[in-house]
Amino acid sequence: MENPTATLILKPGRDKPVHNRHPWIFSGAIGRVQGQPAPGDLVTIADQKGAPLATAYYNAKSQIQARILSWDTDQPIDERFWRDRLQQAINGRRAMANPVTRDKTPETSEVSLPTDAYRLVNAEADGLPGLVIDRYGDYLVMQCQTLGIDRRKAMLTALLVELLQPAGILERSDVDARGKEGLKPVVELRYGAPPPAELTLRENGFSFLVDVHHGHKTGFYLDQRDNRAAVGRPPYMAGQEVLNVFAYTGAFGVYAAAAGASAVVQVDSSAPALQIAERNMHLNRLERPSNEYIAGDAFEVLRYFREEGRQFDAVILDPPKFAHNQGQIDRAARGYKDLNWLAMRLLRPEGVLATFSCSGLVSADLFQKIVFGAAVDARRDVQIWHHLGQAADHPVLLSFPESAYLKGLLCRVI
Ligand code: SAH
Repeated sequence: MENPTATLILKPGRDKPVHNRHPWIFSGAIGRVQGQPAPGDLVTIADQKGAPLATAYYNAKSQIQARILSWDTDQPIDERFWRDRLQQAINGRRAMANPVTRDKTPETSEVSLPTDAYRLVNAEADGLPGLVIDRYGDYLVMQCQTLGIDRRKAMLTALLVELLQPAGILERSDVDARGKEGLKPVVELRYGAPPPAELTLRENGFSFLVDVHHGHKTGFYLDQRDNRAAVGRPPYMAGQEVLNVFAYTGAFGVYAAAAGASAVVQVDSSAPALQIAERNMHLNRLERPSNEYIAGDAFEVLRYFREEGRQFDAVILDPPKFAHNQGQIDRAARGYKDLNWLAMRLLRPEGVLATFSCSGLVSADLFQKIVFGAAVDARRDVQIWHHLGQAADHPVLLSFPESAYLKGLLCRVI
C-alpha cells in the first residue's frame, strides 16, 4: 500500500471543483505544498483550512499537477483499489451487449458484444486517470498518458493478466499528451505474445484489418462504432454515391457499401491507410469498380471536386482533432465551417451529411452552430436527423465534461 507523501493545500475558493468531483487539480489552484512529493507520488488534496478532500497522484511537471483517485481520504490506494477500479470498468462494458432482446442479461456469464474490439478502460471517465486500455480480441493495448500511471504500469499489467488472461499486452504510449507530463513515447510489449502485425477485428458483422503496432490511436477508431452503424442504416446509403472524407482504413466506407451505396469514394492524406481501406472492402466482399481511393489533403480534394462540378448523394466528414488548446478554437471553427460548407456544395438536393468533430474543446452546441453557419453560406436548408456521440465503451463522466469529445450530426441537406 502507498501513503500520500505530501498535502496540496488549495487556494481559497479553489476547492469547489473538487467538491463537484472533477478529477483535475491545476497548478494555479494550489496555494502551497506541504512535504516534498516525488513525481508520481500520492498526495492529499486539502482545502485552504487544511481539511482533506481527496487522494490524488502528483506530477509537478504537468499543468494538471494532480489527478484524483479517490474522494474518500480514508480509502487505501493499494493493489485492491486498482483491481476494483479495473473490474468496475470491465463490468461497465456489459452495457454494450446488444440491447434488443427479451432475455434478461445474465449478471455473471459472458454477454455477446457487437464487437470483439472495444475500449475497456477510458481513463478519467472510468476513475482511472491517465490510463487507456483497448481490447482487440485476445490482446490488450495499453496507453499510459501520465507519469502517475507510467510509474504503476507493472502492477497494472499484472492485474490485467489476473483479471483477463490476455494473450498479450502491448503498450502504445506514443501519445502527444505524454510530452506535457515530461515523458517520452514508449511502444513496448508488456506481457505475453506480441499481437500479430495485422489482426482482424469483427464489428457489427464486418471485418477490419488493424495494425495495433503502428495504426492511429491504438489501431482503430473504436469510438465511431455506433456512428458507423447509424450511417449504415439501410435507408441512408442505398443506391447512393458516397464520399467518405478522412476515411482512414475505410470503416465508414464498408458500412456504406454494405448498406447499398453504388459507389464509395474515400479520401485520406495517408496512402497506407487507404490501401488497408481497399483491402477492407475486399475482405467484406464489397469492392466495386466504381469505388475510388484518393490520397490527398481533404480540403484540396473537396475544392477540386467543386471546381469539377462533381456531386455526391452522401458525404461523411470525420476530420482529426482541429483544436488542441483554447487558443486554437477559432481556427478550428473556421476549419470545420470550410469543410462543412464544401461538403454541402458537393451534395445533391436531399443529400445526406454525416459530420463529426472530435475536438473536446468544441462543444456539441458550438459544433451545431458552426454547421449552421456553413449551411447559411451554402444556402442550403439542413435537417438534423440524429445527434451522434461516442460509443458506450467511451463513457462520458458527468463530473468530467472533458470526457465528452466526439460529437456528430446526421443530417439531410435539402
Ligand atoms: N473515419 C475514420 C477515422 C478518421 S481519423 C474511421 O472511422 O476509422 C482522421 C483521418 O484523417 C486520419 O486517417 C488522417 O490520416 C486523416 N487526415 C488528417 N488530416 C488530413 C487532411 N488534411 N486531409 C485528408 N486526411 C487527413
